[in-house]
Amino acid sequence: MYTASKLPKNYGSSGWVEMLPRRKPKPSLESTITADVAVIGAGFAGLSAARQLSLLDPALRVVVLEAALVGDGASGRNSGFIIDLPHEVNADDLGGGSLDRSRRDIKLYRTAIGLGAAMAEEHGWGKDVFDPCGRFSVARGTQGDDHILSYAKQLDGLGEKYRLLNTQEIREVTGSPAYTSGMHMPGTVMIQPADYIRRFADALHDPVQVFEQTPALSFERKDNAWVIKTPKGVVTARKIILANNGHAQSFGFFKSKLLHVFTYASLSERFDPPRLPGQRTWAATPALPMGTTIRRISDGDGDRILVRWRYSYNPTLTIGESQVSSAGRVHDSKFETRFPTLKGLRMEHRWGGPMALTWNGVPAFGEIETDVISACGCNGLGASKSTAAGIAAADMVLGVKSEMVDILSGYDKPKQLPPQPFLTIGAKTNMKIKEWRSGDE
Ligand SMILES: Cc1cc2nc3c(=O)[nH]c(=O)nc-3n(C[C@H](O)[C@H](O)[C@H](O)COP(=O)(O)OP(=O)(O)OC[C@H]3O[C@@H](n4cnc5c(N)ncnc54)[C@H](O)[C@@H]3O)c2cc1C
Repeated sequence: MYTASKLPKNYGSSGWVEMLPRRKPKPSLESTITADVAVIGAGFAGLSAARQLSLLDPALRVVVLEAALVGDGASGRNSGFIIDLPHEVNADDLGGGSLDRSRRDIKLYRTAIGLGAAMAEEHGWGKDVFDPCGRFSVARGTQGDDHILSYAKQLDGLGEKYRLLNTQEIREVTGSPAYTSGMHMPGTVMIQPADYIRRFADALHDPVQVFEQTPALSFERKDNAWVIKTPKGVVTARKIILANNGHAQSFGFFKSKLLHVFTYASLSERFDPPRLPGQRTWAATPALPMGTTIRRISDGDGDRILVRWRYSYNPTLTIGESQVSSAGRVHDSKFETRFPTLKGLRMEHRWGGPMALTWNGVPAFGEIETDVISACGCNGLGASKSTAAGIAAADMVLGVKSEMVDILSGYDKPKQLPPQPFLTIGAKTNMKIKEWRSGDE
């Protein structure tokens, strides 16, 4: 029997959720039901798995169990970049691998984007939800400038398109005098993550059922099936897809193999668009891996700025509200240096959320128990990686031969982390050094 030692908790008020109208959640499970496949977790991985299962076999009875409200978890509270190119948050360069590995990664990421594009088209989602506008990488000094040029060389090697921008050109986009250079990569899609995840869940239909506020508390094998207990119900399913990212460890899987890292965001109040020149919407990741992500978004007749910065190592999968506030104070100063014309604008929402990294940057993917397939270990890029892992997990469950399964199964297995206390000391020191090295970026 596998019992959850811990359940997820969401910290701070996610601006993405707060911007949306109230939504009636799907019901929680309050009965005993039977399914072909049970999916644990309704983030990018879980919802993608459910969709792929129903595409492969429309008659399949699929049950998705989500501990929280759909869209409140990490998949609905990220910065909204579905990135199509190698972008390792933990690597010294953002490419972080061989050409061969990069090409396989790109294949995964573009399949993930293809899924989002198909959903957007089928359901008529606008650019406020799913916008294939690309992203910028921005630098604030010579170190960042050099990183952009070195990343450009890696993209040349891969035959990928990009456009370099000088100081003036990046200023015309961002309206900020703070950037020294930039690069535009056209393949990234920008989403309103909470809206995307909610719509995704709402688009799944019978015989796929999504239950919100229904954590899987335990599962055990009985008569060749898995019996999953939730607070008020029971699901009996032939197979399980575990799509709860770092909380796979709460069931005892991937012990000492998942590095639990949180990151933080703040979203400003609305401002009158003419106060900031440049484009009305744009999105920029930092040239240096531990730097600051910024997005300008439109919200009705006003605009808002999103700031995402800081990674913290939290092996207990929990943070305190004080960590959200402390990251927020730094967000404020990052915001002030970048947007002098918006002086005095307040941050209206602040939040944090979890990511699960592995030491060697590979996903925690594959069969981990009889008829239990894991699509976990997002490595900080879950909008692309977890979506791809969810699709592949569904293929694997149904025994479908697919390139996605081949690619994901072909990666090494997650490496054992160093023992404690060396891990905590090493992880915290490493992040502090990288944070310090990223300086103002
Ligand atoms: C502030 C921030 C910014 C980020 N920006 C980006 C970005 O721009 N692009 C990007 O690619 N990534 C980004 N990330 C990372 C990204 O959000 C994650 O990689 C992604 O959400 C992982 O998706 P997932 O489906 O694997 O896991 P999750 O989104 O964590 O989903 C797992 C779900 O499982 C549920 N769950 C857990 N345990 C149980 C249980 N026992 N029973 C039932 N349900 C359970 C959780 O409630 C959760 O909803 C960011 C993260 C944060 C916090």
